Amino acid sequence: MQKLIIEARVNEFMRREEGNPNVPYSPAEIAADARACREAGAAILHFHARKPDGSPEHSTESYAETVRLVRETSDILVHPTLGYATLDDTAERRLQHILAMAKTPATSPHFAPMDMGSVNVDRYNEQARRFETTQLIYKNSTETLFYFGEEIARAKLKPYLVSWNIGFTRYIEAFLEMRRLAEPAFICFCLTDNTWLGGHPGTLKGLQAHLDFLPNNHACEWTVVNFGGNLFSLAGAIIALGGHISIGLGDYTYRELGFPTNAELVARIAEMARELGREVATPAEAAAILGIDLAHFEQQHRAA
Ligand code: ZN
Repeated sequence: MQKLIIEARVNEFMRREEGNPNVPYSPAEIAADARACREAGAAILHFHARKPDGSPEHSTESYAETVRLVRETSDILVHPTLGYATLDDTAERRLQHILAMAKTPATSPHFAPMDMGSVNVDRYNEQARRFETTQLIYKNSTETLFYFGEEIARAKLKPYLVSWNIGFTRYIEAFLEMRRLAEPAFICFCLTDNTWLGGHPGTLKGLQAHLDFLPNNHACEWTVVNFGGNLFSLAGAIIALGGHISIGLGDYTYRELGFPTNAELVARIAEMARELGREVATPAEAAAILGIDLAHFEQQHRAA
């Protein structure tokens, strides 16, 4: 079985006030966290740029500063989020910070995300039985996805394909059939426990429904997120089934575990993998599994 790729999803838009004080905000905090996660076994860092007070940051400068600090001190592979300021931003505005960073060797990320469909993202309050907002749609038109696919390939980055439900996975299969995506495809199943209802539940059934629709005629690697919930109840199954793990304080506070750090979550997953007989991939090994040519990034460095 392939070695296990662990991705640290360090912050998303999670706030420390929600319970866990270890969520990194500033570029320096994110870089320090990335280094600790790498030492604990993570091969990929996923982050959202944040202002020092934790509010969302959308400037290319902040993203570039974060990637520069991370890459100066660690070989972890870098996966930034899209830079939208609103859910209605154009495809060009959402991707422009990533394309700008990819031009400069020291700030180039390795991945760029593509959510392969559209979904309602209003928060649902289960206790109060009401939605906290009623208008939020995460929109990714087919035309937008064509644009992302072309530009991400042109920048020689790896598309990180997010699937919220089976319809998204069918889009991934169609894009592979059309040769608009290269193989192996790297697919992230975004389960959504609590709060968001747009994904499958964070249960074995929710995961299995995704796996039943993996594009069988194409080379695929898959990882699993539980956005809004605890991923540990599924981690053993994911590891045994040959999937990869994407975990972090961006998704959930992990209060049951005493509000750990991101690196502590990663270390727990790495330990679990070893107990189940599966080795943990280094960033270089993860790049090889996913078909990322690290020499391209090194050559960029040499040229610089
Ligand atoms: Zn994210």
